[in-house]
Amino acid sequence: MCGAPSSAPPWPKARLADQPTPAQVALRGRCPRCGGGPLFSGQGFAGLLQLAKSCSVCGLDYGRFNVGDGAAAGVILLVGAIIMPISLVVDFRFAPPWWVHGLLWVPAVVGLSIALLRLSKGLLVAMEFRHDAGEGQRSDQ
Ligand SMILES: [Zn+2]
Repeated sequence: MCGAPSSAPPWPKARLADQPTPAQVALRGRCPRCGGGPLFSGQGFAGLLQLAKSCSVCGLDYGRFNVGDGAAAGVILLVGAIIMPISLVVDFRFAPPWWVHGLLWVPAVVGLSIALLRLSKGLLVAMEFRHDAGEGQRSDQ
């Protein structure tokens, strides 16, 4: 048993037709295997972005998924690309006082970041589940 990499996925494989699509998982924030249980859970604001421990419907262990910070890097770039031009247009066109910028852009950046992080984390978890992705293993050990 020692040394031979296992080719079996670490979770029971459901039929592809029975699984929700990655877009459905991302948009609904639901389990990538059954589409029933919530993907995110927790107290307060942490619950908006924290993966649940497992699916409450089918029992899929979400701890096996490692989406890391890949989603955050893309979201930072995307939110900056969306908000920065809009804020410059507002400033050049209306020249509002500085506190108006704070009232506009702080909630916009926070809200857009949370929404896009939920979407991208859900999408990454769904893709990892669908393609049985995991850490790489060397075949010569
Ligand atoms: Zn499930």
